[in-house]
Amino acid sequence: RQPILAIDGPAGAGKSTVTRQVAERLNLLFLDTGAMYRAVTWLVLESGIDIEDEPAVAELVHQCQIELVPQKDPLGILINGRDVTAEIRSSQVTANVSAIAAQPVVRQCLVEQQQAYGRTGGVVAEGRDIGTYVFPDAELKIFLTASVKERSQRRQLELQQKGLADISLEQIEQEIAERDHKDSTRSIAPLRKAPDAIEIQTDGLTIEQVTEQIIRLYHQ
Ligand code: C5P
Repeated sequence: RQPILAIDGPAGAGKSTVTRQVAERLNLLFLDTGAMYRAVTWLVLESGIDIEDEPAVAELVHQCQIELVPQKDPLGILINGRDVTAEIRSSQVTANVSAIAAQPVVRQCLVEQQQAYGRTGGVVAEGRDIGTYVFPDAELKIFLTASVKERSQRRQLELQQKGLADISLEQIEQEIAERDHKDSTRSIAPLRKAPDAIEIQTDGLTIEQVTEQIIRLYHQ
């Protein structure tokens, strides 16, 4: 079978950029699973249903169709044919995604789709539960971390580059810490380092250095 690499870690650890580069270098599919949870969250908010109404959310998620365009940067994503690439990064989606991602039916549905990608070819997948639940047999598992301070500074820089600088570092820190807490304390598939994952602490490292390290580990 084709190789599968799992890259997990908390919000803002640089997973997306690193995963994209590793996938390009190894000529494998870049699978951003966070974008899938974000797209479902966007759909739920757009539909006007209560995000805690699990049966209604279940119906929406079962009927929805998600398409990824991983060649685009940032990764393109469509839900029910609508391009929501920009919308899924909004602060409203970010604030609600952990509550949606904690619902068992949502996870079941998206994990099935993610595993289907893994059956069609090699992938480098990033998320919170890739090494623990989605691809427990992955050839290489990486757990990317960084301090909350470093992750918040990176996120702020990213927002500034997009011209969205109206949010303070303290607010970003709070949002990141809150999301980490929700993602690691939920009862289903909580954010965890898989026992066989290699942890890379990325404070002070560049994207290129982290990418190199992962490529080296893969070839070992
Ligand atoms: O990585 P990103 O910030 O885009 O992820 C958004 C949210 O999606 C996370 O905070 C988490 O709640 C959820 N998620 C998840 N499992 C994954 C990927 C993301 O629960 N594999």
